[in-house]
Amino acid sequence: ARGKLARLLHTPAVTLDGQKVELLANIEMPDDAASAIRAGAVGVGLFRSEFLFMGRHGKLPNEDEQYQAYRRAVEGMQGLPVTIRTVDIGADKPLDDTARNVGYLNPALGLRAIRWSLSEPAMFLTQLRAILRAAAHGQVHLLIPMLVHASEIRQTMALIDHARVQLDNRGLAYGPVKIGAMIEIPAAALTLQVFLKYFDFLSIGTNDLIQYTLAIDRADESVAHLYDPLHPAVLRLVASTIAEGQAQGKLVSVCGEMAGDISMTKLLLGMGLRSFSMHPAQILAVKQEILRSDTSKLKPWAQAVLADDEPNRRILVRP
Ligand code: PEP
Ligand code: MG
Repeated sequence: ARGKLARLLHTPAVTLDGQKVELLANIEMPDDAASAIRAGAVGVGLFRSEFLFMGRHGKLPNEDEQYQAYRRAVEGMQGLPVTIRTVDIGADKPLDDTARNVGYLNPALGLRAIRWSLSEPAMFLTQLRAILRAAAHGQVHLLIPMLVHASEIRQTMALIDHARVQLDNRGLAYGPVKIGAMIEIPAAALTLQVFLKYFDFLSIGTNDLIQYTLAIDRADESVAHLYDPLHPAVLRLVASTIAEGQAQGKLVSVCGEMAGDISMTKLLLGMGLRSFSMHPAQILAVKQEILRSDTSKLKPWAQAVLADDEPNRRILVRP
């Protein structure tokens, strides 16, 4: 089956009714860019930068080390866009064993991702400068995780401006970036208009969106059977984010595990999604599903799935 899929490597991801779909890669380290290219990704939709920060016994990567790492990813993608997400430390991704999150009762609800970054502005500015400098070498999109308050958005934007000023003052070159927000907390999906005011693009993090919508710890095996991507509440938040974002002409992508799950491809297409970011190993299988899809049939079916109390039944009979 693998050999057969490999023949799709250079086939454009277009549905039967001519809808073009963007298939992007999720990566964790700069050298993963090579596997993204080998898998036929047209860019990186999620570079989880926290992997540069983890397991270093509290000694964080400095600006130059980060700049070199981001630059390597950007150059590795050979002109294709690279979406670098600012550090998402905390919860299931502690800095190291002695990290501040250990011992907290609810680390997933604690000081993680942008919350941690805003509480450590010197650390955050260092990362922002490194990303902006890497943007001088290719197409870079800057992605911010776990935002929920308008005030956090404004603080983040102010720090990005400040990082540019610091680079100007130091006479260091940097490039332009598009700025996007992860939509991965229900409150963000429910107040999407605020996000649309500030951001160029959105990326739906379904892993956390499911966790926070259903109150299921994504790392807790004892409730894993309740972690249901097809819960109607989850599907409605995903669908409304896609529709509201696109209605304002913004690119909306999904970068959670849902994007790489072939049993979800047709539903996401039916909801209007045209940009998927996933582990490189999933790209060809998802492409095969796209090549067999007709969005004119999937759209009314997706509406029916969304209206269903138990979408699980309907998803089994995809058009
Ligand atoms: C997500 O939450 O869906 C996501 C892509 O981010 P992470 O899995 O790194 O939290
Ligand atoms: Mg997340």
